Amino acid sequence: MAISAAVMTEPHAPMEVWALDDPSLEEGGILLETIASEVCGTDVHLHHGQLAGVPYPIVPGHVSVGRVLETVGVDADATGAPVAPGDVVTFYDVHEVCGTCWHCLVAGQPNRCPNRRVYGITYSALEGPLGGWAERIYLKPGVRLLKLPEALSADDVIGGGCGLFTGFAAVERSSLQMADTVLIQGSGPVGLSAAAFAALRGAALTIVIGAPSDRLALAADLGADLTLSLETLTREERREEILELTGGRGADTVIEASGNPAAVTEGFDLLRDGGTYVIAGHYTDAGDIELNPHIAINRKHAVVRGQWGTEFRHVIRALRMLAKHRDRLDFASIIGRRYGLDETGSALEDVASLRVPKAVIAPQA
Ligand SMILES: [Zn+2]
Ligand SMILES: [Zn+2]
Repeated sequence: MAISAAVMTEPHAPMEVWALDDPSLEEGGILLETIASEVCGTDVHLHHGQLAGVPYPIVPGHVSVGRVLETVGVDADATGAPVAPGDVVTFYDVHEVCGTCWHCLVAGQPNRCPNRRVYGITYSALEGPLGGWAERIYLKPGVRLLKLPEALSADDVIGGGCGLFTGFAAVERSSLQMADTVLIQGSGPVGLSAAAFAALRGAALTIVIGAPSDRLALAADLGADLTLSLETLTREERREEILELTGGRGADTVIEASGNPAAVTEGFDLLRDGGTYVIAGHYTDAGDIELNPHIAINRKHAVVRGQWGTEFRHVIRALRMLAKHRDRLDFASIIGRRYGLDETGSALEDVASLRVPKAVIAPQA
């Protein structure tokens, strides 16, 4: 039986629905029926051709939740929890990290492994249903599977989506200490997640700069103490407010989750001397900025860290925290609209124009 899948044939081309061949399952393989797959900002960037080395045509969708239809010799998830057909699971999109190259073995940095493949990004549609915008997803042998914690629904996980894990990773990568003042730049899914986890990690004051207002309201619901709107405040007004709140020093920790290059100059400006700046919003290339290294970094004694993608531990840990704090972290409420496989073009447009905080592809709809 063929599998319907939404296919991005090349950058800027209209989305198409293709019928893909049913994969023949290898030993260790799993077939999922897709419940929901997210539309991440990265999918918009893929559609704009902003990531190098993408083997178009692709089936997008790197974070997905599905129901196990069939497994070949797999009876447990990556944490050892038993898994059987009918169970609702998610999986780690990064795959085929080799464990033997210089990056894996010496640098301890598997996200730079040259053999690394990512569901929904680096697999061609010609290789099979290896992205979430499809009725079924084939998990190749070795894909890290995770049964959803009992407290969580598919909507909780997909409402957070890849931004939930990236925001968690960015907070982990910072030096955030209890009672810090944390500034989050950006109120998309990564920024919302970073705000939530910064507050949980013990920030005394969590500030989110972003827009539009519905996203800032979500940020406040998820843990931000103060939101500053890009629409109503000038950069100078935002600066004055943050300096006033921090005794003129600036934020202890700044996390960039906007994907806008201009945010980075503002981020350095609002970071206190000796503070830590984590740049997590530039997974794809959004362009250059001009920076004065003396003022922004050297004299400031700034610690600057990049966070590119996530590791599996972020997925496990973020979902454990989400399960524990489900009452205060309503990521399911971020979902703005569900789209069928024939509506993925509108989903990309709606995410690009910020019309919905989180668009979800529901292939069975
Ligand atoms: Zn490697
Ligand atoms: Zn993503």
